[in-house]
Amino acid sequence: MSQEKIADVWNEILGILENKIPDTTFSTWILPLEPQYYDENSFVVHTGQAFAPNILRKNHNEEIIDAINQITGRTLEFKIIYDEELAAKFKKRASSRTKKDDSFQTLKPKYDSLTQMQSSNLNLKYKFENFVVGSNNKLAFVAAQTVAQHPGEKYNPLYIYGGPGLGKTHIMQAIGHYIIKNKPELKVQFVQAEEFVNDVVNALANGGDRVDKMNKFRNKYRKTDVLLIDDIQLIAGKTRTEEEVFNTFNTLHSAGKQIVITSDRTPKEIPSISDRLVSRFEWGLMADIQVPDVETRMAILMNLSQNSEIKVPPNIIEFLATVYSNNIRELEGAFNRVTAYASINEVELSLENVKKIIGYSEHKKDITIESIIDEIAHYYNVSAKDMKGASRSQKIAEARQMAIYLARDLTNLSFPSIGDYFGKKHTTIIYSYDKIKKELNTNSILAQTVSNITNKLNK
Ligand code: ADP
Ligand code: MG
Repeated sequence: MSQEKIADVWNEILGILENKIPDTTFSTWILPLEPQYYDENSFVVHTGQAFAPNILRKNHNEEIIDAINQITGRTLEFKIIYDEELAAKFKKRASSRTKKDDSFQTLKPKYDSLTQMQSSNLNLKYKFENFVVGSNNKLAFVAAQTVAQHPGEKYNPLYIYGGPGLGKTHIMQAIGHYIIKNKPELKVQFVQAEEFVNDVVNALANGGDRVDKMNKFRNKYRKTDVLLIDDIQLIAGKTRTEEEVFNTFNTLHSAGKQIVITSDRTPKEIPSISDRLVSRFEWGLMADIQVPDVETRMAILMNLSQNSEIKVPPNIIEFLATVYSNNIRELEGAFNRVTAYASINEVELSLENVKKIIGYSEHKKDITIESIIDEIAHYYNVSAKDMKGASRSQKIAEARQMAIYLARDLTNLSFPSIGDYFGKKHTTIIYSYDKIKKELNTNSILAQTVSNITNKLNK
């Protein structure tokens, strides 16, 4: 049997297994296997991972054999053999990932989609299949599926926006996964806006051949069929980066390539971004993701529970879904802490121990903009009336900015509704929010203040 033939057969087997075996198991244990040959009795693969034979035989023998039999049309035994030579190559590969040496090339998975996936930076978990659809994200979900099915043809760009932890990155990467799987000939590039900024800075930095560096940069982002840019608000105020985004956008768009962008706000709400970029971002479809209602939150937890070894009882799912109402990342975090606890301590989950694990206090108040203002007024020793007024005294201005920051961070209010509350334009509100957020990175006293006030509000 030729090398090519066995590789082709194995690729088809992988295509089936990819949908049957959990993503992490698939990428950790199945993909690195090296198919050898098959005859009328058995299908033989080699592994460089000592644990692989046990793990795969114990947990996934049936799925693997089914897939092998389906593709070969025979009834075969699955033989997985530990190969020391492969193990050595494996080690070498792990230690020289960044260098492009030959051993890496020969070991590179032959499975096209995976090679693509690795170079596109996507997270295996973020697929359409794992995304729970509710009224809060329906529009974004349908638009994302449309774009995934017809890249470059329907909504271009697709601009997805919404608060933190609501699934923007997930849904954007789902588009990437779908395209890689169904149209492997297309090149997909996912990038965090921060990484894009860094790439621009590096390309412009002194040292090395600048023209060459710029060409490399441009090749990376312009020679792609689908460009996914995450958290675009982070390029605000970075003029050279904005210019590169603008040029990249134009090149790709006019060539009919798909662009997907996410942000925590609408294009107009990104401060100091140029009008020409705003108008381009608005060319296609803008879809927002809202906070999910309690049923959707429960559905998300049930989904997690189905994929977890620890079964979480319905009353606990309901409890967690009620407590974590405006950020799915936090909801998931709590779920993971609870299941990790149950699994390590081998205990049944009761409402009582769940409350302890997540540090829940019965007397927790609802945080509202009023309670935030009261607390801050007290903390800074200013009056609530002053904070809502126009005074520019430094103390009052800082208290006001802090209130705006916390209102956006701790409640579900949008920038415009916070603006209404303070009788200010939403751009002013965004400015204050960003100012505090930025300062928190460098000003530890301010960070301590935020944490003190938040703790008080949570008591
Ligand atoms: P964002 O980019 O909006 O900050 P993410 O996409 O990183 O949020 O989502 C945060 C976490 O919540 C991720 O682990 C993601 O898988 C999960 N998540 C968000 N929305 C959904 C959903 N509708 N269904 C399932 N999981 C979701
Ligand atoms: Mg994100």
